Amino acid sequence: MANPDPRQPIGLRRAPEARVARSELPAGVDVAVVGGGLIGLSAAWMLARQGRSVAVIERETLGAGASLAATGMLAPAAEHEPGSDLLLPLALHSLRRWPAFRDALQAASGVPIDYREDGTLVIAIGRDEVERLRFRHDLQRRSGVASEWLSGIEVRRREPALRPNVAAGIHCPLDHQVDPRHVMTALAKACEAAGVALVERCAVEALDWTSGRVTGLHTAAGTLAAGTVILAAGAWSGERGLLPETLSLPVRPLKGQSLALRTSKATGTLAQMIWSEQVHMAPKSDGRIIVGATVEDCGFRPGVTAGGLYALLEGARRVLPGIEEMEVEAVWSGYRPTSDDDAPILDALAPGLVAATGHHRNGYLLAPATAEAVAAFVTTGAWPDYAAGFGRARFRPAESLRASA
Ligand SMILES: Cc1cc2nc3c(=O)[nH]c(=O)nc-3n(C[C@H](O)[C@H](O)[C@H](O)COP(=O)(O)OP(=O)(O)OC[C@H]3O[C@@H](n4cnc5c(N)ncnc54)[C@H](O)[C@@H]3O)c2cc1C
Repeated sequence: MANPDPRQPIGLRRAPEARVARSELPAGVDVAVVGGGLIGLSAAWMLARQGRSVAVIERETLGAGASLAATGMLAPAAEHEPGSDLLLPLALHSLRRWPAFRDALQAASGVPIDYREDGTLVIAIGRDEVERLRFRHDLQRRSGVASEWLSGIEVRRREPALRPNVAAGIHCPLDHQVDPRHVMTALAKACEAAGVALVERCAVEALDWTSGRVTGLHTAAGTLAAGTVILAAGAWSGERGLLPETLSLPVRPLKGQSLALRTSKATGTLAQMIWSEQVHMAPKSDGRIIVGATVEDCGFRPGVTAGGLYALLEGARRVLPGIEEMEVEAVWSGYRPTSDDDAPILDALAPGLVAATGHHRNGYLLAPATAEAVAAFVTTGAWPDYAAGFGRARFRPAESLRASA
């Protein structure tokens, strides 16, 4: 698709925002959610379906944080790496929950989310990369994650457009993907249909505390009383001000830049997600390929850099020479909400206050399990087993060591 006016710059955010009627701040609700990203909307939708009155308070627009910047890979196999043992059972559980989550979401919203089950092909060029790929494959097998070792010829049989010097690959059939733009649109519509108040351009400035319990929120537009507040503020969840010092969360922004390429009949596309050591490439059913993503521990520094784009394009061209003929449709950046161990924080921080944050590069993968766990906690006061190990307490030993150093 040609850029309609060549004088117009390529959009820095590729995402049409989820269009629904936006609400005024209500006076009181059962559950108030801080943050209208994927995690906040998923939890809000789940709770509203269970009959609770819910409001989502978003400082900017829905999805404006990490959620519309994501590629949408649901990739517990390709993502599995040394040190992610805590995460793997939760990731696999959440992937199993995705088909039911997808069906309910599509039925509630009428929006197809481009759920694809083609798997991931992790590829290697050169001897060192093949060695590291072997290690990854062994790790997957030791962890019981399905994956198949492929020779270079077998890789190119699956993806003929890849460069002939691709020496080996592993196919991870478990890995799926969605289109984040459609998921966020669907969630906004599903929330609206379930009666959730979606309040945008309204910053939560402080929590309301009464006798050690959180009883609501102070926002730029007024006060909201709530039986439970869910903190789903993504990379901003660790920001000073909202939580007292004693409850602060070890969450920081990890910037990622990505771009979308437009394929055509002439360029061809990919059949599945491709991972190399430099980039991932995810083909979407509308003909785009998302190339991502840089990993930059630079705090909140917005924008897209020449260096970031260069790294992505060079990494993509190294394995898929045909990208040279593809049109660059959009470029963007976002902030992964990253905890000190890269796993989410699902915890009751105080009476009336629940944290659901720190999903790092796996928010899409973990959304169904997170939403169900948060809804279960709000209803029963207990976390389901699969979510029980993700409390904030797991960071305390490191915190006290740092304090005494
Ligand atoms: C480049 C990139 C690629 C990614 N690819 C994938 C992928 O392929 N698969 C995958 O599973 N995950 C991926 N992720 C990770 C995924 O996007 C995140 O884990 C997920 O979106 C986090 O959702 P969230 O709702 O917690 O955060 P966010 O989407 O950031 O939402 C938090 C919201 O809270 C709002 N907020 C903050 N403070 C306040 C306040 N005081 N008052 C009101 N609102 C507030 C923010 O404006 C923001 O909209 C990727 C991330 C990036 C950046």
